[in-house]
Amino acid sequence: MTTDTATTTLTSINPATGDPVGSVPVTPATDIPAIVAAAREAGRSWAATSPTDRIATIRGLGEALSAHRERLAELLTAEMGKPMAEALGEVDWVIGACDKKFDDMARGLTPDELQDGATSSTIHFDPYGVAAVITPWNFPLGMPNATVVPALAAGNAVVFKPSEETPLAGQLFAEIVQQFVPEGVLHVIHGDEEQGKAIVAADVNLVVFTGSREAGKHILAACGSGLKRVILELGGKDPMIVLSDADLDKAADFAVSNSFRNCGQVCVSTERIYVVDDVAETFENKVVERVLNLKIGDGADDTTTLGPMVNNRQKQHVLEHIESAKREGATVRCGDEPMDGNWVAPTVLTDLNNDMEIMRDETFGPVACIMRVDDTEAALAAANDTPFGLGACVFGDAQAEDVARRMTAGMIGINRGCGGASGSPFVGAQQSGYGFHGGTMGIRQFAQARVVSRPAT
Ligand code: NAD
Repeated sequence: MTTDTATTTLTSINPATGDPVGSVPVTPATDIPAIVAAAREAGRSWAATSPTDRIATIRGLGEALSAHRERLAELLTAEMGKPMAEALGEVDWVIGACDKKFDDMARGLTPDELQDGATSSTIHFDPYGVAAVITPWNFPLGMPNATVVPALAAGNAVVFKPSEETPLAGQLFAEIVQQFVPEGVLHVIHGDEEQGKAIVAADVNLVVFTGSREAGKHILAACGSGLKRVILELGGKDPMIVLSDADLDKAADFAVSNSFRNCGQVCVSTERIYVVDDVAETFENKVVERVLNLKIGDGADDTTTLGPMVNNRQKQHVLEHIESAKREGATVRCGDEPMDGNWVAPTVLTDLNNDMEIMRDETFGPVACIMRVDDTEAALAAANDTPFGLGACVFGDAQAEDVARRMTAGMIGINRGCGGASGSPFVGAQQSGYGFHGGTMGIRQFAQARVVSRPAT
């Protein structure tokens, strides 16, 4: 991304080639209050429709996205570097989940009826007004889809700011969604942190933010004085526990795919692996063997399994984590070779401890960090020793269910990743989240509950 303040355009840069992908006009921050006011005005008629009618109106979204499947995938790869197979996977995941998500939203927004003999109550789930939706670059379609669409389905007008790294994917997604809602109900704002802060400060009723923990803290504080509603989906430092009776091939397959997918730039990437001593050496060898088979390259090349980092800033952040771990005694089992451009060599580190920066702060890069522990209790203590709490997983048999229940994350997988069955909320615990989305429970976070009561008849 480069911003030309003289002409106020934002140019999206391909991290593999350094070439421009395209440009969008930056929205002047001073225009944002008027845009929010226009959204509020246009949103009145949308808010007055029933949830059933609104969801019927936007149900065709999956089909409309399908018509742009290849273009969307090309943009994801070009703007942030993910391999084409992963880009198509992201687009197909969004399209494939549409129908079920709309069913869940319709169920979640259906009023509840309660009776206690004396009183009969109807609990309605009404729009808040204007929702500000701010998204990151790592899933340039998946994150806007997970937040813009429920905000609209709940009857809100939306002011949406995609990441400055992936404005073209955000713009195309918004244009497709705009076909399904009345004019002015969904606005797009382009820019960086400056525009993000201006949206949060404007007269919005709900802020739906997906991004880093640091920005999330600022947003929560900024919303405090106006008591604005807030949903924050933030970063993670997900642990994986490998127990003595784990299937080590399956555990190593998962460790590699979930540490290196999207070049490690996933909120629920495996960032810390705790393996019990008696199986540690075998497990480490299996991980290294698999990492050596990753194919580094431009995501647009079909054979690439590991693309570049999104930009040089992210690359330097990952390299600093690796350097600091080495200074503190970590062993490099593979990787850590200098690379040109925005690439970071896929790296496996061992001989780690939980005081190291790389085991505490989000790395968000292609690094597998493996720490040996004495036993199950030590693994649990180390895994839970974090202020984050997004995802977690445990590989094992006899104790796996018990270990899963004692992990402090919001989503825990047993012998698999942390994502729940379709319809489950996507929820971060501790400092990884504040509110959540997904499923019939999640849609209600985008709506104001109102209770209307009458004498029971
Ligand atoms: P970021 O916090 O730097 O930026 C996210 C978005 O917020 C961008 O659009 C940015 O312009 C805007 N922004 C930045 N500072 C802001 C502020 N103070 N006020 C308002 N807006 C602001 O994050 P990023 O680098 O784009 O994305 C990576 C982060 O996102 C990682 O921490 C990752 O774990 C997290 N993430 C979380 C989830 C989840 O569901 N929990 C999903 C994807 C990514």
